[in-house]
Amino acid sequence: MFTFAQEQVNVVAAPWYNIVLSGQHLIYSNDSAYIVIKTTAESVITASASDLVLLTLLAPVNIIILLLLVLAVSWLVNLRFQNSLEKYTLKVLNSQTIELLTSLNVATEASIAKHSQLEQLQTNFQSLNTYITNYTRESEVSIYQDKLTHLIDRHAYIEHLAKQLRLAEMDHFSCALLFIDLDGFKQVNDSFGHSFGDDVLIQVAIRLSNVLRHHKISNLSPISQLEQNLARLGGDEFSIFINLKDDKNKALEVAQNVLKEIERDFVLGNKLIKISASIGIAVYPDSAATPQALLQMADVAMYRAKTDGRGIFKVYSPEMGKKIRRYHYLLEEMRLAIASSNFHMFFQPIVHVDDCAIDYFEALVRWEHPVEGSITPDEFIPIAEESNLILELGDWIMLESCRQMSAWYNAGMKKVAISVNISGVQLKHYDIYEWVMEKLAKTGLPAKALMLEITESTLIKASNKIIKSLEKLRAEGITIAIDDFGTGFSSLSTLADLPIDVIKLDKLFVAQANDNHKYNEIMHSVSELGRKLGLKVVAEGVEELAQFELVKSMGINCIQGYLVSHPESSVNVGHKVLQDNINFMSVTGTGVWNIQKPLQ
Ligand code: C2E
Ligand code: CA
Ligand code: CA
Repeated sequence: MFTFAQEQVNVVAAPWYNIVLSGQHLIYSNDSAYIVIKTTAESVITASASDLVLLTLLAPVNIIILLLLVLAVSWLVNLRFQNSLEKYTLKVLNSQTIELLTSLNVATEASIAKHSQLEQLQTNFQSLNTYITNYTRESEVSIYQDKLTHLIDRHAYIEHLAKQLRLAEMDHFSCALLFIDLDGFKQVNDSFGHSFGDDVLIQVAIRLSNVLRHHKISNLSPISQLEQNLARLGGDEFSIFINLKDDKNKALEVAQNVLKEIERDFVLGNKLIKISASIGIAVYPDSAATPQALLQMADVAMYRAKTDGRGIFKVYSPEMGKKIRRYHYLLEEMRLAIASSNFHMFFQPIVHVDDCAIDYFEALVRWEHPVEGSITPDEFIPIAEESNLILELGDWIMLESCRQMSAWYNAGMKKVAISVNISGVQLKHYDIYEWVMEKLAKTGLPAKALMLEITESTLIKASNKIIKSLEKLRAEGITIAIDDFGTGFSSLSTLADLPIDVIKLDKLFVAQANDNHKYNEIMHSVSELGRKLGLKVVAEGVEELAQFELVKSMGINCIQGYLVSHPESSVNVGHKVLQDNINFMSVTGTGVWNIQKPLQ
């Protein structure tokens, strides 16, 4: 407390810190300020202003207020700073996004400048997002889509299958996979050209998509919008994946419907074609548990559907697996066998019924496997045909047969011919005229000493081009036999139109003729028809004397069968014909096959 005499003081109003001092009056003395506390007539009682201010400010409540004040001020400053920073960042981001969009050729809105930075950024981000979604979809489509049919390809399908099988495993339900292969599609391509074939594949894809929609088994990819339950695996192979959670029979129903849809006429331009499909079905988890294995098993079942007559479906069973393994094993072994000369030709005589004079030899291929021993042509020829390996093997068979016959011909068998089995695959792949003539030229065999055996089922399906080539060969002197006649369902009247010289009645007839009246009748009719048409009739598979007598009584010209001879090696034929009846041969140009059992 300080007391001043009235005349000593000059009281002034508090300036800025008036707020703190609540409008107190101050007096100054010796450069210090004093707050007037009480004024009397003589004196003025004061207190030191600095002390009082200090005391006031340092009061605990005021410290808190002060702190709050400092905080508020700093927050305000910060907010202002942040606001301007944010604005700056938004602006930079905006211009960068616009730059990006422009470089991606995405149009940015013209009115955008009127919006706030935040709105601008939002619009730009939306454009970018749309662009990214479209881009992802397009790139997924371009990676996974089959360019021709627009279905997903094998790669995408396998990925999809893997996901579906994981779901099936977790939720314990089964699924099925259909392996669909078109029948005779190669012929469509060969006959009408590849672009026509492509159109057929596109139509097939559309029909299959409709089947999926009809059965409500679609599964569209959320990104690419492509159908994932239907794929083109390659070539003329398609596949459908079906969830069997709600209906165990769904796969069979779908398969049935697919067959029906494919069998409907295809009208393309001014052409109308008919095709069919073979379907294999594999079921998860019964048949297999991984996408690849499931596809493989369905493929095996499809193969069985093909061999069992085409236009049908088959569900995989383990027994089918064995067959397919044998198929692949034999295919590989056959390739090696061709390279290492494990094939040989055997020859079976076809003799005249009257005198057992040899009419011709049928060349029959034999395979001596180093481990398995001999493998029958009935087992390996269909595999060679299916794989086209028959082309390579058939080349060798033809050359070897002509070479052998040429040697016999030069040794005196001038009236004997060699007959070579020709597969439908060879007819389709070669210009058969050129191919045969080249073999004759190479081996020096006269055309009249060669016969071609073509099965009835192949011959009735032969194109006009093939028939013309066969006519040309006949004009050269080569004879043609229709083989396994009676098994190919052609009518007898078709015989008159075919370019043939010889009918080989299938061994089925001879085997049944003595017991089955109908077979007997057919043999009679064929024999008669042959005579009328000037065709030679050969009965295959004559094993017993009774059969021989029956055949003879029917007026059939020649016989082939174990009764006369099994197929023999060239060495044995040489011994039998050349050594045993060299004199007969030199006079007649043929030989007589000596039969152990007497024929009459
Ligand atoms: P294919 O053309 O009908 O040949 C006649 C088959 O009947 C031969 O069987 C022959 O050994 C057999 N055979 C002959 N006489 C009798 C008999 O009295 N009884 C019985 N049960 N069978 C007899 P192989 O040699 O096993 O040939 C089977 C089939 O394989 C042939 O039937 C033919 O379709 C095919 N094949 C054989 N060799 C060739 C060939 O070199 N090329 C082609 N493309 N196919 C061939
Ligand atoms: Ca034959
Ligand atoms: Ca035959």
